[in-house]
Amino acid sequence: MDSWEEKTIEMVRRGQGDRVEYLEKLAKHILPTHLERVQKNDKTVLKEMVLPQWMDWEILREWSLAKKPEGTTRECALCNTENEAGIDFEDKFVCEYCFLKLKNLE
Ligand SMILES: [Zn+2]
Repeated sequence: MDSWEEKTIEMVRRGQGDRVEYLEKLAKHILPTHLERVQKNDKTVLKEMVLPQWMDWEILREWSLAKKPEGTTRECALCNTENEAGIDFEDKFVCEYCFLKLKNLE
């Protein structure tokens, strides 16, 4: 399990699942150049981005470094369908739908 996974699981545990969902969708709402600058630790990019209050640089940067390239689908370990949105959970890819189901079982 990488540190980003641990972080998202920790956020869900703290009842911040909405933050995890926000981060999962974030790549679609920011420019690829912004993503690159976050990855390069260029904090001046914050002035050009509209982010929620709870977001801090550490979360944003870890998210950017864990970000998978867009447009790649992977097979979900639980429902066996190809899906673009999802997370790595305990070394397996879990699609967003199954992840949300898992989350609600906790
Ligand atoms: Zn699934």
